[in-house]
Parts: sequence; structure tokens; C-alpha cells
Amino acid sequence: MYERELVDKVLHDLIRLTNRRVPIAVEIALGPGVDQNQAELAWKELTYGTEMADVHVIWERAYDVMVCTGEGHRFIGDDACPYCGEDGVVVEAAPPISLGHWKLDAA
Ligand SMILES: [Zn+2]
Repeated sequence: MYERELVDKVLHDLIRLTNRRVPIAVEIALGPGVDQNQAELAWKELTYGTEMADVHVIWERAYDVMVCTGEGHRFIGDDACPYCGEDGVVVEAAPPISLGHWKLDAA
């Protein structure tokens, strides 16, 4: 499962970056084509029985940067150009998964 590999990677990054302190909340952004339900399931499985199981995950969406084939408008998303309606091409792909902010406990 693709999502499981991604979540496993981000979980290890988090453990490393927090010096093994368990955050109370963390933001994880998923790129286009990455299934949030699968990612949530993978997070639950991978953290089951560990202290990371209690971390509140805020799932977010990361979008590609596109340029349309019409007048070259730059926009974010995966649909048609919001300005002229032409198709867009990806010029800057969103990473499949990325770790956002995390919040350690208040103490
Ligand atoms: Zn356009």
C-alpha cells in the first residue's frame, strides 16, 4: 500500500525531528492522488500500541502548481484554469506527503 509507505516515512521523520518527544498534534499534507482514508488507516496501524497513537493528526491537502495552456496563468489545483478554463500542466508537483507544523505539549 502506497499510503502506508508514505505515512511510515513521515512518522519516522516526526520521531527524529521531535527528538522522540510525543507531540499532541501534527499537520500532515497529502499530495494529489494520495488517499486520505488509506493514510489515516495506515497511521492508526503504524502507531497502534505506541505513544504516537494519541497524537492528533490534522490532515491537509497539498496541491500542484499549474500553468494553463491558454494564456499561461499560474494557479494551484488539479482542474482547469480558473481564469480562462483551459487545461493546466503541472510545473511544480506537490510532494506526495509532507510534515507540517507540530505542537508539543504546553509544558
Ligand atoms: Zn488560463
